[in-house]
Parts: sequence; C-alpha cells; structure tokens
Amino acid sequence: SVILGIESSCDDTGCGIIDTEGNILGESLHSQLLVHLNNGGIIPPVAGVLHRKNIEQVVESALKSANLSMKDIDAVAATVKPGLPMSLEVGTMFGKLLCRKHQKPFIPIHHMEAHALTARLQNPSLEFPFLVLLISGGHCLLAVAHSVDKFALLGESIDDAPGEAFDKMARRMKLRNLPEYYELSGGQAIELAASKADDPLQFPFTPPLLQYKDCKFSFAGAKNVCKYYIEKEELSKGVAPDEVIPDVANLSAAFLLVVTKHLCQRLQRAMEYVARKSLIPIERQTLVVSGGVACNNFIAQGLEIVCNEYNYKLVRPPAKLCTDNGIMVAWNAVERWKANIGVYKDFEGIEVEKISPLGASLIEDVSREN
Ligand code: ATP
Ligand code: FE
Repeated sequence: SVILGIESSCDDTGCGIIDTEGNILGESLHSQLLVHLNNGGIIPPVAGVLHRKNIEQVVESALKSANLSMKDIDAVAATVKPGLPMSLEVGTMFGKLLCRKHQKPFIPIHHMEAHALTARLQNPSLEFPFLVLLISGGHCLLAVAHSVDKFALLGESIDDAPGEAFDKMARRMKLRNLPEYYELSGGQAIELAASKADDPLQFPFTPPLLQYKDCKFSFAGAKNVCKYYIEKEELSKGVAPDEVIPDVANLSAAFLLVVTKHLCQRLQRAMEYVARKSLIPIERQTLVVSGGVACNNFIAQGLEIVCNEYNYKLVRPPAKLCTDNGIMVAWNAVERWKANIGVYKDFEGIEVEKISPLGASLIEDVSREN
C-alpha cells in the first residue's frame, strides 16, 4: 500500500509519499522560514495564507516526484494537532478534500508522535518500547513510546521550548545582521556562532531545576540570564543598535552548553526512572532524539555521552527528518495503517482528542524514588 502524508502545523508545508515497506517514493517541502525571519517571528495568519498558497503545489510536486497519481494512493494522512490552528487547518482540510474527491480513507496524525516515530522509518530494527526525547520549536518532552498508540509522558517544559529559546536568543543577538547568518534558523545561528567561541566559561550559567528529581524542563531562565548579559555588554561597550556584541560567540556557546547540560541531566533522570520501573528491556535500551533541535551536533554529542554511560543506543534521524516534513507524517500513517489504528473511512466527525495518545497522556510521577 502507498500513503500520502501532509504536514502544515507550523511554518513548513510538506508532503511525503511512502509505501508500507518504508520506501520513500516522493516528497516535497515548502519552507516559510525566510518570511518569518524577516517578520521577526511567526505571524500566524501570515503562515496560514502561505500554506494555503502552496499546499496544492507541494502535494502535486510530491506526487510528480513519485511518478504517481491519486489513484495509486491508498490513504491520505495529515497533521491535525498540535500546532498553529490557522496552519493546521490548511493541511487537514486539503487532506480531507483529497479523501472525499478520490474516495480514500483519512489518517489524522499527531505532530509530536510523527517526530517520535520517524526513527523507525530509518531503523526498522528499532522495536517498542523505547525512550524518546523530542526537542523542537514548540516542545520539549521525554516519553516512553510503548507502541504506535501508547506513549507514557515523563516530562515537558514548564516554559519555553528549546528551539523557541534559540530563536529568541538569535534575534536578540541580532545575528542576522551578519551575512552568513541571514538564512539560518535561530538554532542553526546559535550553533554556528558557538563554534567560533574561545572562552565560553566566562559566562557562568547553571543548569535549572537541578534540585528537582523529575523530568520537567525549563529554558526561560537561561534565556533571561543571557539577555541580561547582552544588555550589559551593549551598554558597557557602547554597541550600536544594529551591531552584534563582541562576545556573541562565547555567549552563544555558554547558552548552548547550559541547554545541553540541562537536557542531559533530565535525560539521566528519565533513564534512572526507566530502570527503576523496568520499562525497557536492558538489552534493547534505546533513546530516540528528534525534532528540529535534534539537528544540533553539540547537543547530540552531550546526549551520546549520557547514552554511553547508561548503556543506551542513541538513534537520531537525519536532519531533514528531524525538522518538519511530510515524510514523517506519511510514515506515522504507515505505522497506523499496518496496525489498523486510526484509519477513518468516515472521517467527517472524528474527534481529534481521541487519536493522539501522546497529546492525551498524563505526566508520570518520575520524582518518586520507587
Ligand atoms: P514543534 O515540533 O514543537 O511543533 P516546530 O515544528 O516549529 O515545533 P521543528 O521544525 O521541529 O519545530 O524545529 C524547528 C526548531 O528547530 C526551530 O526553533 C529551530 O531554531 C530549531 N533548530 C533547527 N536547527 C537547529 C540546530 N542546528 N540547533 C538547534 N536548534 C535548531
Ligand atoms: Fe515540529
């Protein structure tokens, strides 16, 4: 069988076509990144209009690259949550439209589950259950993936998401005023700036929530401390309004370091909890890290160290599957199709709440010692 997946939850319009063996037959992606960078952040109605403008073309070009037409497709999937309502609506409506027109079943997809399960597309030997860390523009969460349809949530961010913190930091540092950063997302910009650092330890950041034994995350504190240093430097060194502070590389590296330490520390908590509760067989312990921030090589190196220490295998999808794309949606739909879960012939009245175990999970009490 062949499944077409549509992604439009935030600022990427994506379409992927996959068969049930996991072969990627076709794909297409339209990114709104530059528009939103120029606007200083995502303006939801603008994102919605751009999705509307591009969705048809994106789906057509995915079909074309697969050399297929709608009659060859067995089901259509689309991200229905979570995300910006004005963005989600476009992909969901277009997906349902295709289903009505061509008499296909519809498979609604939860965006974060799609991020989590992409790892199984490239690693067919990756079996449930596994531990998953999702770090992206809107989320930070740790969960145990028990099956396609069952996730146990261990912790989430209590404030910003890491990608959001990177995006805000990069903007505040005015990195785009330097030509080589112009087309980069905030996370990419901070990673590049940090790679030029020579003395990051001059900025003494401490990881947050160290005294808590749970898996909650926080990024707003580090972001605010960072902003304070920028302001201090701007004032004391007389930096012009369109200029970048002299210490931008070291500050970026210090910020990236504290984010990495925090992620690693929370991950350790999760691994200890998993061990205490015997949630994953010891011989198959695997951590999947995905979402846009998983593209960051420094963060990945930190996570790798923790994985080695706790005897976990680290699985990180390639960058183009970590950020938003249509393939992950199609793949999640393949998983559901094969398990016959959440495939709707009659999809007009489906309740979105019911189709997303990850979105509906309650956070487990990780902090209790046994
Ligand atoms: P969510 O998945 O939570 O709904 P989203 O879909 O907007 O959010 P993704 O496309 O998964 O987010 O990821 C985008 C985020 O990833 C942006 O915040 C971006 O700054 C960040 N990002 C991209 N590349 C890197 C990198 N190399 N290092 C750190 N962050 C990065
Ligand atoms: Fe995403």
